[in-house]
Amino acid sequence: MWRNDFPLIRNRQEVYLDSAATTQKPEAVIRTVTDLYESCNANVHRSPHRLGRGMTELYEGARSRLSAFFGAGDDHCLIFTRGATESVNLVASSALPLLFSRDPKRREVVVTAAEHHSNFVPWQQQCRRLGGTLKVVPVDAEGMPDMKAFSAALSGRTALVAFAHLTNVFGRVFPAEEMAKLSHRSGAAVLVDGAQAAGHLPVSLEELGCDFYCASGHKMYGPNGIGLLFGKRELLETMEPWQFGGEMVDRVYEDCTLFAEIPAKFEAGTPDYIQAAGLAAAADYLDHLGGMEAVAKRERALTARLAEGLRERKGILLPASPEASCGIVSFLADGLHPFDAAALLDAQGIETRCGFHCAQPLMRSLGLSEGTVRISLGLYNTEEDLDRLFAALDRIMGRGRS
Ligand code: PMP
Repeated sequence: MWRNDFPLIRNRQEVYLDSAATTQKPEAVIRTVTDLYESCNANVHRSPHRLGRGMTELYEGARSRLSAFFGAGDDHCLIFTRGATESVNLVASSALPLLFSRDPKRREVVVTAAEHHSNFVPWQQQCRRLGGTLKVVPVDAEGMPDMKAFSAALSGRTALVAFAHLTNVFGRVFPAEEMAKLSHRSGAAVLVDGAQAAGHLPVSLEELGCDFYCASGHKMYGPNGIGLLFGKRELLETMEPWQFGGEMVDRVYEDCTLFAEIPAKFEAGTPDYIQAAGLAAAADYLDHLGGMEAVAKRERALTARLAEGLRERKGILLPASPEASCGIVSFLADGLHPFDAAALLDAQGIETRCGFHCAQPLMRSLGLSEGTVRISLGLYNTEEDLDRLFAALDRIMGRGRS
């Protein structure tokens, strides 16, 4: 049903099962971006002419639209970035020095072992630079954080806690609200990496109560090269800008500069206003399908079928229960290196991903030394796609079901 909304999907024979890497784009998003380039393109917040005013209105309209889509409260502000990676780097570069200087006793950052490198390496590197300590909370065999260890890691020394909303290897939904509450109780700021959650789950920032939330347009059926950082107003207003240039300034003198207010302070240079409007079109499209509740419901049903089909197949090893997953499942094919398994599937038109999925600490902690093959679902996937996956698995394993 939703499959037909996606030109690349409907025009190909192959089965795309790699939406956690990037989602395909619905016609509505592609058309919005193309139409804007054809009829509305002008730089924003600069040019006084009708075209410039119109595009500025669309860009700021996209900011409001996406704030509403993510259930952002009044004290949240949305900064457009290039993606979740840039959003985390912005906070690591700009908020961490502020938090360290506000309370010199707080020099620790807490993350979990399940984080994507984008929500791990920026903290590790900033801690090295600023003289802080990175604490890594272990995860259990199911890829969920050890909540005892999590609570024990929090103290009067914690400056910031960063964790995924939905993990990218086993599709685990972390208890983000509870983790945010515990972190706040210890006086730490909280960043939630919503790169995967944004395309799979309904998100309400007001309910989550975190200080920062990051997402990528290209993982939620929107354009590439556009991302989101929601931040609490009080923190964003106090943080120093991390990049400098046009439109992020108020007054520039020879010896000093007064910066613009947020969000402009964090959007130096020409922003990708067309992709921002394209991302707002993706939010409209998702709402038109019935919202993220409807998307998540459909994905839960497909995941259950995927889990059942994988479990039935002899030689398919499941490091963590696929039943508990939210559209993202990792497996191993007995006797095959994950790269070979993915290549053999690809030869049969089944597109998966293999390797460490930018989560080496997780793989190491679970002893998955060769990585996994990952299947990740999108809202265009169908039962037939899964049947074709199962048939291909049976062929590459050289046998039928157990
Ligand atoms: N966090 C998670 C959980 C992810 O899955 C990804 C992308 N794979 C990122 C962060 C980084 O997103 P991007 O590459 O779009 O910046």
